Order: sequence, then structure tokens, then C-alpha cells
Amino acid sequence: MNTKNAETPENGIVIIGAGLAGWHVVDAVRAKDKDIPITLITADSGDRYHKPMLTMAISQKKSAADLVRATGADAAEAANIKLLANTQVTDIDAASQQLQLVSALRSDPVYTNYATADYGKLILAMGAHPIFPKSLPENLVWHVNHIERFGQLQEKLADGSQHVAIVGAGMVGTEIAEDLLKAGHQVSLIDLNDAPLSQMLPAKATARIAKAIESQGIQFLGGYQVSAVTRISDGGDDGKLQVDYQPLASDEDSSSAQPLETLVVDHVIASTGLTVDTQLPTAAGVEFDRRTGIVVDATTLRTKADNIYAIGDCMSIDGVACRYVAPLRAQAATIADDILGHDHNGYEHKPPMIRLKNKAISVMVTGVPQATGDWQIKTENDDELIMELLGDDDTVSATATIKAPATAKA
Ligand SMILES: Cc1cc2nc3c(=O)[nH]c(=O)nc-3n(C[C@H](O)[C@H](O)[C@H](O)COP(=O)(O)OP(=O)(O)OC[C@H]3O[C@@H](n4cnc5c(N)ncnc54)[C@H](O)[C@@H]3O)c2cc1C
Repeated sequence: MNTKNAETPENGIVIIGAGLAGWHVVDAVRAKDKDIPITLITADSGDRYHKPMLTMAISQKKSAADLVRATGADAAEAANIKLLANTQVTDIDAASQQLQLVSALRSDPVYTNYATADYGKLILAMGAHPIFPKSLPENLVWHVNHIERFGQLQEKLADGSQHVAIVGAGMVGTEIAEDLLKAGHQVSLIDLNDAPLSQMLPAKATARIAKAIESQGIQFLGGYQVSAVTRISDGGDDGKLQVDYQPLASDEDSSSAQPLETLVVDHVIASTGLTVDTQLPTAAGVEFDRRTGIVVDATTLRTKADNIYAIGDCMSIDGVACRYVAPLRAQAATIADDILGHDHNGYEHKPPMIRLKNKAISVMVTGVPQATGDWQIKTENDDELIMELLGDDDTVSATATIKAPATAKA
């Protein structure tokens, strides 16, 4: 691979974001160069933690503090890097290679006491934000996309059994539903589709997932749209919430009013997808799509802007976001080699194996799954369903294996 792009960066390497992606880049660069200056700038504390644990921790009675593997300060010292924690990057000037920074702890959002930082090479690792539809006001609902917010929810749920509504039955919603149930809470999981994981798998497969989680005791409300969440009782942040929801109107019955139903719950969690911040990619002049992320060259992970790379939840390869942990190590190693001017073979993207963490049912998916398409049954019996998604040329582009859990079979 041609690494002409790669003189030693004069102003060092600057990474925006201290999630798994940002820290992987730190590790990968330090594995190859102990001294090159690295600055890690992050809006949070920079603490190192394994985000997938957030959908397993509540039933294991683990607090946010228990999940921190190293504080940001300790990890920065160990890696010999400069950490600017609680610092938000608000602007990128790609021509002068300079960032604008402001305290993330500022009380006034229009605070203007900005600092600047220069970069030689810049890595965008700032993740993606949860989407809050209008019906789910951000001040009333929780998300589990960050350890800090997760920690606040975990503290509230430590007060004893409560009723939690989860909106969105993708992987995160389906996993947290089981975790909360196992922790002794009453759980209602609401989704537009008739079954969980419906944006990824065909109905035959998702029907088994719906059945498994319902038989476990989760109330699954499939085919419903949440129209409003409102606080109905006193008690400030701890007052009860009313969730209004109604059947999703089909094309035929969209003219008639759908009956409104309600749930009264203690907490609502939104797991309705992620979107990429537009401010920094726009400022940097990199190509991006809000839904899928910043466009990078698939072999070098360079963006279109000179000396700027992207990795993790904020990035997409060939128009597809890949929001999983497994590819991060190889992606970070490629960025490190490219930045340091080492010869490398180029990153080769392999979609990771996707494994739902629920115990009620085992779901494993390989390839690039999508709900629609030519899914063929390979094996189908009470214990197991194996399906393959065929592409235009009859090659297998995804495989889904759904199995009853070992205990259920015994
Ligand atoms: C609950 C849950 C369970 C999951 N389970 C799995 C699983 O089982 N397996 C799997 O492979 N994947 C799983 N994932 C996905 C995986 O965890 C993510 O793909 C990965 O952690 C993303 O890391 P990241 O560093 O790109 O983003 P993030 O963790 O979101 O980190 C982004 C960082 O950028 C910082 N930042 C953002 N904007 C700015 C700014 N303007 N200035 C400064 N800093 C900024 C933030 O403070 C944060 O530190 C799960 C995700 C969730 C939410």
C-alpha cells in the first residue's frame, strides 16, 4: 500500500472521541510507536469500558463504576498520551488543521471561551448519537448508548422492581429487555414491526425471537407506534410516565383513526437507532450521510479531507455502517500504519459475526443481513432454523442461525 500520505505528523496525532474506537487507535499507534505525540479529546471522562456490557450489567448488579476498566486519566498515563477530557470539539478547520474546543461541562451552552488545538493527523472517532423521535422527548426517556447515562438509569432501577417500556426492538432494545427482566423488572418492548430484529432478518426468523422473549415474560407490543410519552404524576424525575401507542396504520386503514392505548410505567428507554452528528463532518468538509456515517476509503480509512481518518460508529464503508466492536482492532491497526508511514496491505472489511446476547434464544448472523431479499431455509425444526440470504448471482450474502437455548432443549 502506498503510504506517501504519511510523513511524521508535525503536530502529532489528534483523536476525537474516547469510546472503544478512539482507544483502539491509541493502542494501535502505541504498539508501533512509543513516542509520537497523541492527544485524545473527548466530551466525556475518557474512562475505558466495554460498551456491549451495558446490556448485561443490570442483571449482574454491576454499576457504571464496576464497568470501568481504567479511568481516562490512568489509561492516558499508561499510554503516554495527552487526554483532554470533558472537552467538546466544536469546529474543525481542515485547511489550517486546527480544532476549536470548549468545556463540555460549561453551564451555559452559548459560552464562548474557546481554545484551539492543531493536528498533524486527525482521527474522527466520535461515535453516533441516539435518535429521539418527537414522541420520545429526550428529557423524559433514557438511552443506553453511553456509560454515563446508563449509570444514572442503573441507579434509578436499583430502587426495586419497576415497570420499564423499551421503544425499539433492534439488538440493543431486545438485549436490554431481557437484562431488565432478569433483574426483576416488568418489561414492555414496543416496536413498529411484528417481531424484534425485523430490520435485519426475515419474518420466519424473527417470529421465533418474538415467541422466545414473550414466553420468558417480556410483554412484546409489535406493530405499534408510540405517539407520546408524558409525565403524569408528581415526583419530579421519579414521577410515573404515560406511554401512548397505537397500531401502525396499514395503507388500507390509514384514513380511519387508530385506537389509542396507554401504558403507565416508571421509565422509558429509547433504542430507536443512531445518527451521526453533522456539525464536525460538515466543518471538516468530509463526505458523510447522517444515517450511515462518514465516508472513508475502504482500504486506508482516509476521508476525502487531507490527513483526516474516521473509525467506529461515526464511519461507513461502501455506504454501510458497521457498528460492532470486532472490526475496530484491524481498522485501528490500518490507521496506525497509514499515519506512521509503514507498509501495509490495506484494510479488508469482513462483516463480523453478529450474536444477540439474549439467553432465551440463540441468534447468530454472518454476512450482511437485511430483512427483505431471497432468504432460503436450510434447516427448520423445533430446535433450529437456519436461513441463507442469496444475492443476485445466488451467492450467500448472509446466514441466520436461530436456536432454542440448550436448557430449553433438555
Ligand atoms: C448497549 C449496547 C450494546 C452493544 N453490544 C454490542 C455487542 O454485543 N457486540 C458488538 O460488536 N457491538 C455492540 N455494540 C456496539 C458497540 O459497542 C459500538 O459499535 C462501539 O462501542 C462504538 O464505539 P465508538 O468509539 O465508535 O463510539 P462511542 O462509544 O459512542 O464513543 C464516542 C466518543 O466520542 C466522544 N465525542 C462525541 N462527540 C464529540 C465531540 N464533538 N467532541 C469530543 N468528543 C466527542 C464521546 O464522548 C465518546 O467518548 C453495542 C452498543 C450498545 C449501545
